Amino acid sequence: MALLITEKCINCDMCDPECPNDAITFGAEIYEIDPDKCTECVGHYEKPTCQSVCPITNCIIIDPERRETNDELLEKFVTLQGLA
Ligand code: SF4
Ligand code: SF4
Repeated sequence: MALLITEKCINCDMCDPECPNDAITFGAEIYEIDPDKCTECVGHYEKPTCQSVCPITNCIIIDPERRETNDELLEKFVTLQGLA
């Protein structure tokens, strides 16, 4: 599953520099996650680091439109690393 930043975002910029896949950028009004780059931190960390650093509860959620298995996320990680 890719993650999704909701309208609760206060643009604090804590998550952007922590993403190992450079998936987070500042969008039109709030920060956004590129679902093609988000591996839910699979391949890097045990849990999503953006969720860990975000100071707002339930601000970053699982994107219901982008449900992926762990194997699919690992495959995405390998592709992003240029190892595929
Ligand atoms: S879950 Fe990990 S890869 Fe996805 S946006 Fe957050 S920090 Fe980046
Ligand atoms: S850490 Fe949370 S509140 Fe801060 S910019 Fe990222 S999503 Fe928004």
